[in-house]
Amino acid sequence: MKVTLLGTGDAIGTPKIGCKCPACLDALRGGRSRRLRFSVLVESDEDEGKVLIDTSPDLRWQLLKKDINSVDGVIWTHAHYDHYAGFGDFHRVQNHVDVYALKSTMDYILKYLYFLKPVRHDMEAFTPFEIAGMEFTLFIVNHPPTETVGVLVTNEYRRVIITSDTNLDIPDESMKLMSNADLMLADAIMPPQYNLNKHMNAKEAMDLAKNLCAKDLRLTHLSHLYPPHEIALKTWPLGHDMMEIVL
Ligand SMILES: [Zn+2]
Ligand SMILES: [Zn+2]
Ligand SMILES: [Zn+2]
Repeated sequence: MKVTLLGTGDAIGTPKIGCKCPACLDALRGGRSRRLRFSVLVESDEDEGKVLIDTSPDLRWQLLKKDINSVDGVIWTHAHYDHYAGFGDFHRVQNHVDVYALKSTMDYILKYLYFLKPVRHDMEAFTPFEIAGMEFTLFIVNHPPTETVGVLVTNEYRRVIITSDTNLDIPDESMKLMSNADLMLADAIMPPQYNLNKHMNAKEAMDLAKNLCAKDLRLTHLSHLYPPHEIALKTWPLGHDMMEIVL
């Protein structure tokens, strides 16, 4: 399968409007510190299909950059603006998009996007389902106060974990599911000197990946508080926008 990081920014994105910090200046100059909001594209082997995990407010540019005008499914991890608001960009592009989420997440998002008529699939955590030849399992993470799931994607050969927004206090049942991933994409909104109760920082995300024996790790959902990308990369395995990982 192929995983593309369409957007590796936090809710604000980098550059942050009005900010002149080193990362924002690098982003304004077109460097890799420039980060659109969070979306991940997962493509199955042999072009069977494409699934979007979250639909960021920047979705239009993300779809244009990847030349995508239809997907086989959209999975929403939680009902925060930076994870769903761009779904409106499917308006008059693709009808009847299949969307998957927990019921509470779905209720919230489809109220906001009432003018679209996606095909709704209310899912339960820990119950696998199939889209385009890949198996997906939602697992509960901890992103107070919003009910949030991470996503396990598997095919015959590979396991990919997308933590979504979470702190380290993840339930045991989820931790079991998250172990031995070939690739983990982990929320690491801040460098280690910061602590947030809704998100992991870079050290926490790296410790989590180590404890769960992830073979490869990319940090994502990154704020402008990191040093400029090329400098930060010397210390942390940051993802960048449009990064493609073939597994
Ligand atoms: Zn977020
Ligand atoms: Zn900044
Ligand atoms: Zn969130």
